This record gives sequence, structure tokens and C-alpha cells, in this order.
Amino acid sequence: MRKVFISWYFMKCQIFHSRMSKIDDKFMAQALKLAVLGGRSVAPNPMVGALIVKNLPGRPAGDRIIGKGWHQKFGGPHAEVNAIKSVRCKADLRGATLYVTLEPCRHFGKTPPCMNLIESVGITRVVCGSRDPFQKGRRPSEITFISGPIAKKCRELNKFFFTWVTRKRPYITVKIATSADGFVAGHNGEHIHFTSRAQDKYVHQLRAQHQAIMVGSGTVISDNPSLTVRYIIGKDPLRIILDSRKRVSKNAKVFKNKNYLHITKRTPLKTLFRQLAARGIASVLVEPGPTLYASLKKVGLIDALIVLKGSKKIGLV
Ligand code: ZN
Repeated sequence: MRKVFISWYFMKCQIFHSRMSKIDDKFMAQALKLAVLGGRSVAPNPMVGALIVKNLPGRPAGDRIIGKGWHQKFGGPHAEVNAIKSVRCKADLRGATLYVTLEPCRHFGKTPPCMNLIESVGITRVVCGSRDPFQKGRRPSEITFISGPIAKKCRELNKFFFTWVTRKRPYITVKIATSADGFVAGHNGEHIHFTSRAQDKYVHQLRAQHQAIMVGSGTVISDNPSLTVRYIIGKDPLRIILDSRKRVSKNAKVFKNKNYLHITKRTPLKTLFRQLAARGIASVLVEPGPTLYASLKKVGLIDALIVLKGSKKIGLV
């Protein structure tokens, strides 16, 4: 009889936990949507969204969102602060649950620690989508972490920030365009535009997502690109031109406005990326020619490789 009671009790517990985790996932997914609104305005800081919920099922009155907020710009108030501010009746915060896509800070940065504020307003449960590598030491007991696909999405959203903090270099995305039969240029090395309009739009989206874009001198000489964001609305990335042999003309389109870095000193790539990270650059999109691509591969500096295959064929001669 006792055995039956114990297994019944555990079954009840399991049902309760799976119901709780489904509810946690539902609210975290909504917080994630808020986080995305921060976009590149928060870089190199993370995008973070927060929801405040009162009276979860299992308690009387059901669940209700009483506040929401997100990190809107670099140096500005954190998502948790904005969410707490948005709650009309501050007494409602007592016993509420906070859903936040990234663990709240417990250190003094540009703003005071969010965890102090969370505790002082009476929030009793904090559900986080991802861990913050900045936060050291024992976590307060009210903090819990979700797992599963939504947690993965929370981590994925801030891959630039996590790489920047833990590896002291930017996240490096490499984009290559090829012909349908796998060539990157014409037979004489001449530039050929392989990609479709839709693929071009995607490239410009990538440019807008990254803080900087990097090319080698060969690409500037053969393609004369402007490396700006077009076809979509977005901020131009910082343009970085690697030109240790000083081959690029002053009249090249990449020098049209001041948002560029012309690297004329021979610098090892690892050092260069470390220097960029120190300047607050957490993401770089590289559009390399064969030489730069080989160098990046050799030193293992490719976090994501995007190959866009066009429909044109070059063919063998
Ligand atoms: Zn904070």
C-alpha cells in the first residue's frame, strides 16, 4: 500500500513538473520574441527579453503577464529593469515569477545589479533561458534554468556575445559565393556575380546583423565593393580592409565614408581579432577571397561558414 502511494505521489510530481516546464517554455518563448527587438542596437552586449508573470496554474487565479521589457540599447537599462518598470501596480510584484532569456546580472556594470532589484521588489522565482558567463559564484536559490529547444534558442540568440566574453574575440561568420559548379571566380580570377536577388538580400541581412565586415585587398581590387547594407533596412557594419601590401586605391568605394578600418600593418589574424574584441566588436562577417579564406581556416577562426551556390555555371576549359 505504501509503495503504491509513493509511486502515485511521484507520478503526480512528474505531471506537475512537466506542466510547469511547458508553462515555462511558453513564457520563455514570448520573452525571446522581446529579446530580438534589441537587435544590433545593444551590441556588443546581449539581446535580452523579460516577462513578469503572476499566479501560475497550480496556484489560484491562473497565470497573467503583468510586465514586459527588453534591453533596448547599449549602456541602457537591462530587460529586467524595463519589465519591472512596466508593472503598473508594484504590489503585484510580490510573489511573481520573472522570465528572462539570460541570467540576471549580479555585478555592477554600467548599471547596478538587476538581481538586487529583483529581490527587493519581492519577485520569488526567476526562470532563465541561458547562463551568463560573466556571473561568478553561487547563484541565489530563486534562480532556475530551463532546458530543451527554447533554452537552445536563447543561447543561439547571443552566440556573438558568448564568443566575445568567453573567447575574447568576435564571432566569425565566413560567407562564400560560388557558381553552380563550385567556382568562386572566372577562369582568369575575374569577379563574377553568382548569387540571385534573394541570396543578395540574405547577404545584406547578414551584414546588418554583424558589427563589422572584413575583406582582403584582392576582393577590393577585383570587385570594388561598397560593403554597405542595401535591399533591406539596417545599419552599415564597420568595414575592415586587410591590405598589408598597400595595394588598394584611395578611390575605392570602401573608403567612401568614415566607417572603415584600413589595416596596412601585417598583423596575425588572431591578434587582429583580439584587438577588434577589445574595441567592443563581438561579430565579424568575412567575405574572403581564396587567400584570406585559407588563412582563416588554417588558424581555426571560422565559427560559421555560409556557402551560397548560384545558378550560373563556369565550366571547365
Ligand atoms: Zn542586469
